Amino acid sequence: MPAAAASASRLILTSLHEVMASRAHAQAKLNRVVDSIGEGLDSEVCSIYLLREGMLELFATRGLAQEAVHVTRMAVGEGLVGTIARNVETLNLAEATAHPDFSYRPETGEDKFHSFAGVPIVRREQAVGVLCVQHVDPRRYEEVEIETLQTVAMVLSELIDNAGLVDEEEAWSASPLMTGPQHLTGLTLVKGLASGAAVFHQPRVTIEHVVAEDTEAERQRVFLAFDKMREQIDRMASQAEFGVGGEHEEVLQTYKMFAYDEGWARRINEAIDSGLTAEAAIERVQQRTRMRMRQIDDPLLADRMHDLEDLANRLLRIVSGQLGTAASQGLRGDTILIARNLGPAELLEYDRRRLKGVVLEEGSLTAHVVIVARAMGVPVLGRVRGLRGVVRDGDPLLLDADQGTVTVRPLPAVVEAFEARFAKNRERQAAYARLREVEPFTKDGTRITVMINAGLRDDVPNLALTGADGIGLFRTEFQFLVSATLPARERQTRLYRDVLEAAGDRPVVFRTVDIGGDKVLPYLRHTGGELEENPAMGWRAIRIALEREGLLKVQARALLEAAAGRTLNVMFPMVTEPWEFDAARDVFESQRLFLKNQKKQMPDAIRYGAMLEVPSLAEQLDILAPRLSFLSIGTNDLTQFLFAADRSNPKLAERYDWISPSILRFLRRVLGTMAGHPADITVCGEMGGRQVEALALLGVGIRRLSITPAAVGPIKELVRKVDLAEITDAMNRWLASPPPSLREALIAWAAARDIQFD
Ligand code: PEP
Ligand code: MG
Repeated sequence: MPAAAASASRLILTSLHEVMASRAHAQAKLNRVVDSIGEGLDSEVCSIYLLREGMLELFATRGLAQEAVHVTRMAVGEGLVGTIARNVETLNLAEATAHPDFSYRPETGEDKFHSFAGVPIVRREQAVGVLCVQHVDPRRYEEVEIETLQTVAMVLSELIDNAGLVDEEEAWSASPLMTGPQHLTGLTLVKGLASGAAVFHQPRVTIEHVVAEDTEAERQRVFLAFDKMREQIDRMASQAEFGVGGEHEEVLQTYKMFAYDEGWARRINEAIDSGLTAEAAIERVQQRTRMRMRQIDDPLLADRMHDLEDLANRLLRIVSGQLGTAASQGLRGDTILIARNLGPAELLEYDRRRLKGVVLEEGSLTAHVVIVARAMGVPVLGRVRGLRGVVRDGDPLLLDADQGTVTVRPLPAVVEAFEARFAKNRERQAAYARLREVEPFTKDGTRITVMINAGLRDDVPNLALTGADGIGLFRTEFQFLVSATLPARERQTRLYRDVLEAAGDRPVVFRTVDIGGDKVLPYLRHTGGELEENPAMGWRAIRIALEREGLLKVQARALLEAAAGRTLNVMFPMVTEPWEFDAARDVFESQRLFLKNQKKQMPDAIRYGAMLEVPSLAEQLDILAPRLSFLSIGTNDLTQFLFAADRSNPKLAERYDWISPSILRFLRRVLGTMAGHPADITVCGEMGGRQVEALALLGVGIRRLSITPAAVGPIKELVRKVDLAEITDAMNRWLASPPPSLREALIAWAAARDIQFD
């Protein structure tokens, strides 16, 4: 904005500031506002229309007939004023009557005016009114004049809000996108149904003050906020998805581009120069960009717009100090959380009783946040495009993650149908629950072991609820993820002991901490040395444990003490070469000796196992096998490495099918290598909890599964219907000569035997 325009705008703002601070009645204030704008812009007419009872009513005018005030009313979408409000966009016309939407109102006496410019008065992204100027001469208003009007409109929105002149709800009701029911689709990440109110993980910032007291101070605030934001983005970019749960490179690159865009910073500073606070200036520039973008119909640009919105919101949060997530404010009722993406630790901060579902714009099946949600029993729908464009905070939502949909502001009939499905779903769950006491034997009499995956104290009751055979994978790092600091040994011991006690006779397999990758511990990050380009293949799991031996020693002692008098099953994640297993076992053994010398009671037996997650281990499995009590195949990581496809990258979420000859042949080969060794072999990745995948696993010879608790019922039901000899036979044929889709072949095979999948 050139200096002259900035100063005109500042003059107007100063006078508005005075008006707002005065004790005058709202109507008197509006009258003074139109006068000072008209004068400041040297415009013959200046009018304010506000939304009342669904109509845009002329509230104040300079230059039009005063008799028209509170008489002239227009519907949203009617006439020029109505068009501005409906489209939430500016009009700038040299000849108003030439516009197709022009509608003549004789009572206003406006026939002598030719030029017309109007801007929406926006509150929370919806028009609550229109500010317009008119002139006798047919001329287009200059860009700078329009900018001034837009800035003034922002201030007006504060005045209007403070004076309670319009009902915001009315504004929403003018926008079908934000009011009517909307049906969105996405990718099912965790199945289930839920209803609740939408809550944004990162709430929108509310701007309290629009007019600045001290322009220099506002400039300084924005300067510091930019600095901080750039620092954050640089850190995120250098960590790739490490800790931010999948904000993948492209997004980060765009963030970076915007964060360093001098033009953006300059425009914000110009808006501050015109008299706005830092917050208002950021919002003001954002509004303008939004309006420009709206005129360009390009989905790619729309995506970038989301990125910029995200960043502007981040900048606003920094500048206003409103940094907390919805978790820190607490959830009030049944909630469905809305986010672009989340980290596992962020999700764990939410109150589990109130969090009913999660809808993400990104997300992938094996991202840890999804695993955590699955463990929490919270349905998750991912990859929902344009979510934040149609959902408002507090909107009622129906999440149907079974079908991959979410309905925003559903109609009563839809709610009814949903409730009916909900009830049916509950019935099905109850039917599964009845399988609790039933042992999963296949049709031809083989007992399949079905265990659960767990990680938190709250997960343990699932053992009793599902009747599972034990906990096949206890992710000990979850305790680390939910703590603000490294959990002390006593706390670890207490958790492990409680878990073992609750499990009773059933085995629990504790996995030593698997941190790194997308499970980042803030308190460990900085001591971890350089940031990594490729955290999933980086310093994680047993690699950290062996290097920071203190961590493993403490955990070893905690586990050994907790399992006193019982059998301790312990396994090491991400074993890549046999020596890593040996080294980790040695740490445990030396701790065992140490505790024994201290006359502490020891476990009756210790069984050591390795996770097979890194393909290289398969090539040396024959060497390691004799030393293993058990082997647990972590298909989440294993498949990411076999396919060379980052498990957190939403773009790859649907690209490769787990039911692939590559995976299944690989698993069959592993089973072949292990044949003749007494070690148990379990699959503990997410794939074992999905019915079609589980059928494939049975077909290659897997007999032990450790799965998410909600899947125990469906998997038991499947097992009981399967003839192992038959599926093994079919699988041998398919793997020898793969059909075009192995998944389809399995589904058809099952259908022919009256096996239905959920
Ligand atoms: C796996 O990789 O399959 C696994 C079970 O471990 P996590 O998902 O915790 O990495
Ligand atoms: Mg893993």
